[in-house]
Amino acid sequence: MNCPACNNELQSVEITGVKVQACEGSCGGLWFEWSAIKKLKDRNPASGETLLHVERAEGVHVFRDIQHPCPHCINTLLYRHCFSRQFNYEVDQCAKCGGFWLDAGALARLPQQSPTKSDRQTAKAYFKSLFEGSLKPENLTHPDTQEAAQTIVHIYRFLTPAEYLRLLPGGGAGQEKILPDRQFLPDE
Ligand SMILES: [Zn+2]
Ligand SMILES: [Zn+2]
Repeated sequence: MNCPACNNELQSVEITGVKVQACEGSCGGLWFEWSAIKKLKDRNPASGETLLHVERAEGVHVFRDIQHPCPHCINTLLYRHCFSRQFNYEVDQCAKCGGFWLDAGALARLPQQSPTKSDRQTAKAYFKSLFEGSLKPENLTHPDTQEAAQTIVHIYRFLTPAEYLRLLPGGGAGQEKILPDRQFLPDE
């Protein structure tokens, strides 16, 4: 299976029983098959944080504004849920197999432990940008997009280092309904 963003061969990585395909040694993107997605809501927050730190190569250029092919279905293009040039993240989904492609971008560059105030501010701005754009509750009029947004929260709960979890919608807490009542916590 090849990376939809840079075409490098994806490597299988298993963490807490969740199997993810990682673009190791190249762009650092992650592919979650639908079977892996289903497991995420039962996993502890931050239990997949090491996936953020798969080895990346310097200078791999990824086009954020074009559609990528599904690494599983190959001839299907991924649907873009959200991307940011500022924070260099991207979250796409395949409408056919249900898999998610994610490049966490700037979140992967933040220190996992002992973040400075500026690191926390970056994380906060990152999550705001991610969840207050196309994933904003009022933009989620269709049940499918609501489900996708909920899945994106689950993926981020799994990947986000413990130090930043409280910045996620719902504070990264358990199974309770996160949408559409979620709120961002005020500045410290
Ligand atoms: Zn890649
Ligand atoms: Zn697919």
